Amino acid sequence: MTDHPPLRLKIDMDALAANWRWFRDRAGVDTGAAVKTNGYGLGANAVAARLATEGCSIFYVTTWAEAAAFDVPPGASLRILHGVLPDQASVARASNAIPVLNSPEQLQLWREIAPNRPCDVMVDTGMNRLGISWRDFRTDMLDGLNINIVHSHLACADEPNNPMNFEQMSRFREIAGTLPGVRMSLSGSGGVCLGKDYAFDHVRPGLGLYGGVPNPAASGHIRQVVRPETQVIQTRTIPSGDIVGYGATWQARRETRLAAFNLGYGDGYLRSFAGAGEIIVAGKRLPIVGRVSMDIVVADVTEAAPLREGDWVEVAYDLKTASTASHLSQYELLTCLGPRYERIYI
Ligand SMILES: *Cc1c(COP(=O)(O)O)cnc(C)c1O
Repeated sequence: MTDHPPLRLKIDMDALAANWRWFRDRAGVDTGAAVKTNGYGLGANAVAARLATEGCSIFYVTTWAEAAAFDVPPGASLRILHGVLPDQASVARASNAIPVLNSPEQLQLWREIAPNRPCDVMVDTGMNRLGISWRDFRTDMLDGLNINIVHSHLACADEPNNPMNFEQMSRFREIAGTLPGVRMSLSGSGGVCLGKDYAFDHVRPGLGLYGGVPNPAASGHIRQVVRPETQVIQTRTIPSGDIVGYGATWQARRETRLAAFNLGYGDGYLRSFAGAGEIIVAGKRLPIVGRVSMDIVVADVTEAAPLREGDWVEVAYDLKTASTASHLSQYELLTCLGPRYERIYI
């Protein structure tokens, strides 16, 4: 009998903290943390508790529903990136979280809900996702509100040479000029990498904290945080010429030692890892062979020290490398890590 799931995520909290400090030092301004989507899959409360001890005091989630499950560290504040909708008025009233208001309608709603409570505002500088358009923005739109931070968000921060970055930054700088004394924030982790001109008064990194490389400038500075581990269900040796898995997509070219592991779609390990994924046994990288099944992958472990049923192995999950291998984005790789993993904070 086991009292633990056959999958676990080792989450390196010192690496998380070191990554946060790297973004803080690089930006040189007050640094928050995006912990939406349950802390990018790692566990928002554990992430926030640790980052709070490092001095992080502003956290971002997307919705009031996420806010309800979030324990705000003492002295910190929580921001709701999607702002407030009419049917959220009562939950917003009962919460201490601070909405990032995205439209004239949301500004008006907040005036009616809680005119004296602090709020943030999102100005869209060209991404055309959320926020009041930079073309329409006027400072008198904020009259009657207790504005804390004015935000914008970059569309192409992962591409250092994309002219969109400078254009958005220039538009935002112009708006900052009309709001003396108001804190301004433009950048997530990619934007921080673009340089101090992009830092303004506050930054909101997410991906890079969790081990993602958001921009080439961060390469070599970001530590891996998440290491999935899975358990051997069964091993076998097959003769040359035998196939493995659905569709018989892989064929052994020699006598091959195989191991089947408990890992699949429900764990965020999608079919795009077929022919590209690896497990790591005692430092040796071994290929996943054949298709990924719903709950099983098979690896060629011929080159590894003998594995037995119940042994644990690491799944190769360095985000940049795994993203290239699987064609999934680093964000997808993190947020796909489902509830079946036991999260172990080390
Ligand atoms: C998610 C998000 C962030 C964090 O972005 P990363 O690319 O993960 O660093 C920052 N700001 C806003 C508005 C976001 O939605």
